[in-house]
Amino acid sequence: MTLLVVGSLAFDSVETPFGKRDKVLGGSANFFSVSASLLTKVNLVGVVGEDFPEEQLTYLKSRNVDVAGVDRVAGKTFHWSGKYNFDLNEAHTLDTQLNVFADFKPVLPAGFRKPDHLFLANIDPELQYAVLDQVERPKLVALDTMNYWISGKREALLKVLKRVDLLFVNDAEARQLSGEHNVVKAGAAIRKMGPRTVIIKRGEYGALMLEQGHAFYAPAYPLEDVFDPTGAGDTFAGGVMGSLDRWGGFNPATARQAMVVGGVMASFVVEDFSFDRIRKISLDDVQARYGELRRFTDFKDLPTQE
Ligand code: AMP
Repeated sequence: MTLLVVGSLAFDSVETPFGKRDKVLGGSANFFSVSASLLTKVNLVGVVGEDFPEEQLTYLKSRNVDVAGVDRVAGKTFHWSGKYNFDLNEAHTLDTQLNVFADFKPVLPAGFRKPDHLFLANIDPELQYAVLDQVERPKLVALDTMNYWISGKREALLKVLKRVDLLFVNDAEARQLSGEHNVVKAGAAIRKMGPRTVIIKRGEYGALMLEQGHAFYAPAYPLEDVFDPTGAGDTFAGGVMGSLDRWGGFNPATARQAMVVGGVMASFVVEDFSFDRIRKISLDDVQARYGELRRFTDFKDLPTQE
């Protein structure tokens, strides 16, 4: 099957209680692609400036990512600066410089227009909408967004959400989008906006999937050392979408498996800054952690009362 992602390729400047890195590689579509490409072929659409290292595109190509949809234009690459305090579940944005994204109009290469699965990674919802207009209806359209767009481009976001099957948000974003504090109520309110399935990412506590008549909670892999959570959400989504593209269409069983694969992928990326850890792992590592997580969470029914 084919998986298409459209989103940001970025430089990130990140500070956590454990260290600091200036202008390392990041971006929603970049993390997504590195993760999903362990499982399936990925077609990537985005934009970079003159300063973006060619080696990262070469590296993506070496992982079966088709970068024909990555435009290199005059100007600087998107730059996000963020900070995490001891609560690593909450990113504080210090600065967002859209740079080449400010004038970006995604144009999909002809070969990218019939994806089975489409992931509209975190970018301007108007651009996400423009991408939907260029593809034949995929089997599944998924979207990710963040507080920056929920408050800054709410109308455009509500418009694109009507055409989305699966929404990825974290709990703060779910609350902000829905106006509901309780995440289950927030999920129900968001489902009325369009997506039939909502996945609420809860950082170190795992992720909750909500849909009509079905819910699933995937625990996070219990890690001792979390170094930098940047990219965890996109890496999680890459695991979910890569798993669906590789192992079957969306149904409750494949979706549950995909959620756990997503959580396992995310558990690797947070172990170091940027791509430093995830670029070293193989599908065998994913399978090993998947098995461990299954054993961590396996429990029997209670005996019936006599
Ligand atoms: P997450 O997976 O949620 O931690 O996403 C982190 C990535 O999102 C970083 O690598 C950033 O470069 C990227 N990012 C942050 N803000 C934006 C934005 N407004 N639009 C697109 N990408 C962003």
